[in-house]
Amino acid sequence: MENLLYLLSACLLIVGLKMLGSPKTAVRGHAIGAVGMLIAAAVALLLSQDGEGVRLEISRNSLIAIGVGLIVGTLVGIIVSQKVQMTAMPQMVALFNGLGGAASALVAAIDLFNKEAANTTVEPTLSVPAALSVLIGGVTLTGSTIAFAKLQGLIGGRPLVYPLQKTLNLLLLLGAVASCCWLVSDPLNPAPLYCLAGAAAMLGVLSVLPIGGADMPVVISLLNSYSGLAASAAGFVLGNNILIIAGSLVGASGLILTKIMCKAMNRSLANVLFGAFGKAPEGAAETGKAEASSGTVKSGSPEDAAMILDSAGLVIIVPGYGMAVAQAQHATREMADLLQKNDCEVKYAIHPVAGRMPGHMNVLLAEADVPYEQLYDMDQINSEFAQADVALVIGANDVTNPAAKTDPSSPIYGMPILDVENARTVMVLKRSMNPGFAGVDNELYGRDNTMMIFGDAKDTVTRIVSGLKDL
Ligand code: NDP
Repeated sequence: MENLLYLLSACLLIVGLKMLGSPKTAVRGHAIGAVGMLIAAAVALLLSQDGEGVRLEISRNSLIAIGVGLIVGTLVGIIVSQKVQMTAMPQMVALFNGLGGAASALVAAIDLFNKEAANTTVEPTLSVPAALSVLIGGVTLTGSTIAFAKLQGLIGGRPLVYPLQKTLNLLLLLGAVASCCWLVSDPLNPAPLYCLAGAAAMLGVLSVLPIGGADMPVVISLLNSYSGLAASAAGFVLGNNILIIAGSLVGASGLILTKIMCKAMNRSLANVLFGAFGKAPEGAAETGKAEASSGTVKSGSPEDAAMILDSAGLVIIVPGYGMAVAQAQHATREMADLLQKNDCEVKYAIHPVAGRMPGHMNVLLAEADVPYEQLYDMDQINSEFAQADVALVIGANDVTNPAAKTDPSSPIYGMPILDVENARTVMVLKRSMNPGFAGVDNELYGRDNTMMIFGDAKDTVTRIVSGLKDL
């Protein structure tokens, strides 16, 4: 019976994951996955073991455990979802990943301690996954904690690099692998367990410190995958099928997401992990200011923008990280509604790595009830910029930089970008000439058909809305 329920739960998790792939079905997919997880956790807590084997049994203690878990989990979920800003979502995921890794490592360690107390033998089929669970879970816990601290601004976001860093990390990895082998050969001895936990914890810290804060979303996605693998290994330790399945799903989906993010940034995973991207270049100016590398920058007011938009037939809005920072999505929606009332077609161009986490722009725009039909992926929209009267870039920078196509010396060369420069007029809403995440100039700002509108994106869009209403 329990395996049938586990099978149902696994199916719900898979269907839920599939539905998360589209903004239209994501909310329902999330609910379906949550029901799957509830069934899995409830069945695991209702299982009891005696001389006749394992069976489902409704007992007072298991009902209390399910009830307390539901209440505490629901409360934490409600508080976190109310308090955490959308832009702080990556660090929240990091925290959850870290806790997942810690739970898996603890499950494996406690199982070994129990076996030691009962003085039973431990087969390699159990000691190998236990060692892997402690290793991967430990790395996930401390690596995620550092990722959280970087994104939360508790420690500096710049890559921390020092001489012989890679050699030291390699030695630490070898030490962790040696401790794993020692634990597998002597599973009831606590000494290798402590060595392994210590080495894994240090490895997590020292391997994430050299990675720049802005690369953290990729690292978090990778650590998410690790937390799944650790859970899967813990599933083997406990002999729990659904934990093995759910852990594998998390492991595989985290890895796929990591690959998608690296591809969209045109960087290899090795470059993200070991490239120290975002390290201050030697002799770099402290101000962080950048000038458009060519051309004269023209700027206009929101009222100028309103006049051009008022006569446009097709406007393509390109949201980016700055729109999230400014929380300009609701004002943008209001502006789009006004334009549509004026017989103007409005489309949104979504770059796969716009913002700071996968799906960042989709979530923001969904929050403002922008219809899904108006959202277009890069491949679908790129050919349409040539017909657009205005490409309205709201707080996006790197994802519009033509240097990605034309300048082989640029750090973002090869990254697929939105062809905004093909529109009749490009309006760029940002506060200054400062660069974006990649730290490179954007020659788009010096082009003849580009108009910069400096200011906070929300203020600017709100003023454009007033301008449109006045016209
Ligand atoms: P960028 O980081 O390139 O640019 C964002 C721009 O927003 C900045 O130039 C900034 O200019 C502007 N800005 C910031 N605050 C405001 C504000 N309040 N009002 C108006 N403008 C503002 O963002 P993109 O979205 O174009 O590109 C994302 C970058 O992040 C890519 O390089 C991508 O590779 C990287 N990345 C993305 C991940 C993802 O999963 N999405 C993960 C990891 C990295 P100013 O200061 O002048 O206002």
